[in-house]
Amino acid sequence: TSGRTPLMAGNWKMNLNHQEAVVLVQKLSWTLSDKKHDHAAVEVAVIPPFTDIRSVQTLVDGDRLQIRYGAQDVSAHESGAYTGEVSASMLAKLGCSYALVGHSERRQHHGEDDALVSAKAHAAHAAGITPLVCVGEGLDVRREGRQVEHTLAQVDGSLAGFTPEQVAGLVVAYEPVWAIGTGEVATPEDAQEVCGAIRARLAETHGEEAAAGVRVLYGGSVKAANVAGIMQKPDIDGALVGGASLQVDEFGGICRFY
Ligand code: PEP
Repeated sequence: TSGRTPLMAGNWKMNLNHQEAVVLVQKLSWTLSDKKHDHAAVEVAVIPPFTDIRSVQTLVDGDRLQIRYGAQDVSAHESGAYTGEVSASMLAKLGCSYALVGHSERRQHHGEDDALVSAKAHAAHAAGITPLVCVGEGLDVRREGRQVEHTLAQVDGSLAGFTPEQVAGLVVAYEPVWAIGTGEVATPEDAQEVCGAIRARLAETHGEEAAAGVRVLYGGSVKAANVAGIMQKPDIDGALVGGASLQVDEFGGICRFY
């Protein structure tokens, strides 16, 4: 066994207001206890919109839930004249364990490049938040068979400036863009090919210990019915789940894949 604790993270995207968020987290918690989920064996996290996080914190703290939570983005800046942005220290104050950085929807619709993703990842890390760094190729790149080189270039750029000790504690999510929200799941072999290449690259650039520690997730149309095959692969340490994370039974089933 790898010694890496699997992580199942639910990216809600721009769905659910703060009241709906509380309902979903409460139901998720009940579902996981019904299923006798072992939180030490598989970590569960929800990634709601910013406006929900305070309410999720109140519920998680008040009921001592073992569910962790995070944000879908974070500013690269510490504070100041950055209208509309949310800083890592603000998220840390709300008890966030994680922040997504470089999700493909932000790379596509908000022009985020690897340099900005790296700056955001450093801002999160400096505030004690684990960045969940998203990488992955689009359909054109996949058709040309260049998914590995494309994704590794994103890994190099997005993790620039991290020390080996820091890399060991990070999370990288491999999300082929053509599999996000499309129902088109990568085969376990496709996912392993790139996740294995990411770990091998980090072994080269940051050493074996960093590579052995870093958690690499797969994301792209993960469901309760397909998660087990993906989780059998040696270099896949969990899933980043979009659509299915809004359905308690689906997401509960994903967390309870073992
Ligand atoms: C995502 O947005 O990170 C994602 C993987 O979405 P979906 O599961 O809906 O494909």
